[in-house]
Amino acid sequence: MTTYSLTLRDEHLTQLRNHLLREEGCEHAAYVLCNVASIRHDPWDRQAHRKYLSAKVIPVPDDHVLESTPNLVTWSTASFVRALKEAKANEQVVAVVHNHPSGMTRFSEQDDANEPDLARLAVNRNGPDSTILSMILTADLQIAGRVWLRPLDGAHAPLRLIRIFGERWTLHYEGRGADASVPSFNRQALAFGDALNHDLRKLRIGIVGCGGTGSAVAVSLARLGVGHLLFVDNDIVDQTNLNRLHGSCQADADAMRPKVEVLARTVSEMGLGVKVVPIEAWVGDPQCRNSLRSCDIIFGCTDDHEGRLFLNRFAYYYLTPVIDIGLAIDVDRGTPPSVKALDGRVTVIATGHTCLLCRGVINPEIARAETMRRSEPDEYERRKAESYVIGEGNPAPAVVTFTTELACMGVNEMIHRLQGFRGPEGGAQNRVRKFHLSEDRRPGHKPGPACAVCSGDGVWGKGDTEPFLGRIA
Ligand SMILES: [Zn+2]
Ligand SMILES: [Zn+2]
Repeated sequence: MTTYSLTLRDEHLTQLRNHLLREEGCEHAAYVLCNVASIRHDPWDRQAHRKYLSAKVIPVPDDHVLESTPNLVTWSTASFVRALKEAKANEQVVAVVHNHPSGMTRFSEQDDANEPDLARLAVNRNGPDSTILSMILTADLQIAGRVWLRPLDGAHAPLRLIRIFGERWTLHYEGRGADASVPSFNRQALAFGDALNHDLRKLRIGIVGCGGTGSAVAVSLARLGVGHLLFVDNDIVDQTNLNRLHGSCQADADAMRPKVEVLARTVSEMGLGVKVVPIEAWVGDPQCRNSLRSCDIIFGCTDDHEGRLFLNRFAYYYLTPVIDIGLAIDVDRGTPPSVKALDGRVTVIATGHTCLLCRGVINPEIARAETMRRSEPDEYERRKAESYVIGEGNPAPAVVTFTTELACMGVNEMIHRLQGFRGPEGGAQNRVRKFHLSEDRRPGHKPGPACAVCSGDGVWGKGDTEPFLGRIA
């Protein structure tokens, strides 16, 4: 079986809202052109999954509307045929959206009767494999949707999840907030309500980099009740990790166990019903793609520039927010050393936000050296000996209380974006905690004018492309 979901950029929802939801309380219509991520195998439910990614909103012009009442909208299909043409040219799918002023998120009998005609038109215009989506928006901004699969026999399937990503992150799915949370998470429902617990249960969250920070993110997400976790790391536990790697012990270092395996054991032993997928690989390795594309949100806890560079593109192509976390401790060379700076950074990489390259977080030269070390180790060693590449420095200082606090900062940013506890202006695209000064700062950076990923929406929600994540200029 295949399951279906949709990610809608927040500004697209705003455009839909402005066109569909009007004072007079009648139905209106619009289209959303969507790109596709086609996932062969979701690692948690082991089913195929199609993720639709919003690319463009096209309102049905008012002068094409034949009838618009509180229970009905009909319009001439000329605009639909134009939308199909544009979708075909860009390998996209058309979603037909209308509003239900009554607030009903179920499709009406009228919808069931009309939509197969549109689905048939799509097959006739764009070929036998064409599908369309249909969506309902209510006055209180609830959204539901379905996919028309085989219009000739009326087969359709629900969108199991609709994600809206902007300054806030909103999820729509069947049964949200319908029943009470399980007892293990009651105490946090007392703070934030049952809906957050349901959202967390529903989410598929990836953690890339399972060291000090990543392991702290993982145990926090598990205890929050996140239902599906993915761990990606290609490293093994070393004795020097034991000061900060949550869940690890000396025996893991002795057995040279992979970090992802230790973390999967730690989380599953909690018995909190979290489904865990460990992948022992570098994040850019093709074997990770299926699982990364299945994620709704990703935490970037890696310390390599190349991995960050990969996630920096992935976030925009797949409309998947990445919460990137980094710690930098700068000491002088005295004995004992004294701290010059102790900075923790949490950056949200997402459409509408400035990317890590433009913030100067990623050093492209180091990323290139890391690529060479991974793919051409002999050449890398030769150039390192001749000082042509930037070699690895001494091991960076790391202290568990700071890596863990930083992980909590990152997770709390996610909780705010899902639940809103900090109020309307509460999200921070980039927060730097100056631990040595006991203060937080929010350094702002604008997208660089030539940035391929964050300066315009050219690649936002592109989804699957050949090559993967496009050609890097
Ligand atoms: Zn309807
Ligand atoms: Zn950028």
